[in-house]
Amino acid sequence: MPQFDKPYDVIVAGAGIAGIAAALEASRAGLRTCLVEKTVLTGGLATSGIVNIYLPICDGRGTQVTFGIAEELLHLSYRYGPGDVPTDWREVADGRAPSRFRVTFSPAAFILALDEVLVQAGVDVWLDTLVSTPIMEDDRVTGVEVENKSGRGVLRAKCLIDATGDADVAYLAGAPCTETDNWLSIWALETSLDVAREAVAADSGEPLLSRLTLGGWNNGQNHPGGVRKFRGTSGAEVTEFVLRSRDLVREVYTQTDQDRHDKFCLTLPGMAQFRTTRRLVGQTTMTEGQDGRHVDESVGLVPDWRRAGPVWEVPYGALVPRKVKGLLAAGRCVDSEADAWEVMRVIPPCALTGQIAGIAAALAVHHNTTPDAVEPSLIQAKLKEYGVPFHLAQVGL
Ligand SMILES: Cc1cc2nc3c(=O)[nH]c(=O)nc-3n(C[C@H](O)[C@H](O)[C@H](O)COP(=O)(O)OP(=O)(O)OC[C@H]3O[C@@H](n4cnc5c(N)ncnc54)[C@H](O)[C@@H]3O)c2cc1C
Repeated sequence: MPQFDKPYDVIVAGAGIAGIAAALEASRAGLRTCLVEKTVLTGGLATSGIVNIYLPICDGRGTQVTFGIAEELLHLSYRYGPGDVPTDWREVADGRAPSRFRVTFSPAAFILALDEVLVQAGVDVWLDTLVSTPIMEDDRVTGVEVENKSGRGVLRAKCLIDATGDADVAYLAGAPCTETDNWLSIWALETSLDVAREAVAADSGEPLLSRLTLGGWNNGQNHPGGVRKFRGTSGAEVTEFVLRSRDLVREVYTQTDQDRHDKFCLTLPGMAQFRTTRRLVGQTTMTEGQDGRHVDESVGLVPDWRRAGPVWEVPYGALVPRKVKGLLAAGRCVDSEADAWEVMRVIPPCALTGQIAGIAAALAVHHNTTPDAVEPSLIQAKLKEYGVPFHLAQVGL
């Protein structure tokens, strides 16, 4: 059993997709790495949050743009369950591919594969363990207080990665952050006799992954009238958002005259489904209109999941906090705003920034420095070694 006083090279807070990618990268680089997760499920919003679409890693015109652990995890999402990469995503007609390099997966099946790959990589996984207050030495984070069944303790490391989705560690360490509101919405899984018949007719269990999506979309469309927006940064707001979102589900089944034996909700999300809560104000902000541009400090490429064409170069500075050292952010809490945030907050970019945080943490530890002092060119050299493109020109765009 892991001990509270065991020293680590890297602590990753939060086992969502970003935290998993960060922990895999750091551990494979030979660092003593732990991944601390407050629930008992790995995968975060993608699994316990029932957000089961691994959005595209291609540009919608037949070119793959995101590689590395982001691609590895996409394939893991269907190792133990349904879901396949469409075979026609490269076939382009009229400048567009008929489908994209993406997968719809079973959340439970994805967890089985994530657990397995973390153990194989030698990551020390701490489940049911809450990360609370960061331990500071001047402006540097050197550890975190954690709490679980064994009680309260301290974990120390040379470098920390905040993959909480909410920039909780960065915020409590004193790094500048910003907050945004959310439309009321909920995604759940439901089942019904119709779905079962569809599965039998198709001779496949895949239709059983039937999703119920209610409330506001990412752009606010479909938001229930008269309902306010919610901010996921206080206990009261999180509780009200979750309870009100479950009202939306209840309404579906009270308004229908269908027999409760024929159609019902199968699984509710195990975590609050906020698209955004708090994110870093980092060394570099990704913003509106920066797609298609060369960025010297780029550490990866991400497509626009909403439309074919736009591809963005991701600056390393979006992961690096201001004012606080020894810390990186990864996933939906990196510094991006407006249209860039829409592109960056989904699963593949979260995996990408997770891997980059893992590479940067390994470089910081090996050079006995902090992530803010890591030259992006060193990260780029590592990506070249992996064969992972980070400039548009490298994928012919
Ligand atoms: C309604 C909705 C629909 C979406 N649709 C899609 C979609 O179709 N496709 C897509 O690709 N993306 C979609 N997204 C976005 C995407 O799911 C998430 O942004 C992405 O999965 C976030 O990954 P992450 O690792 O950054 O954070 P998270 O998934 O939020 O993971 C953070 C992890 O940290 C843990 N944690 C938090 N605080 C602590 C703490 N103090 N101590 C220990 N552990 C902690 C959490 O339990 C969680 O496991 C959607 C999001 C929402 C809300």
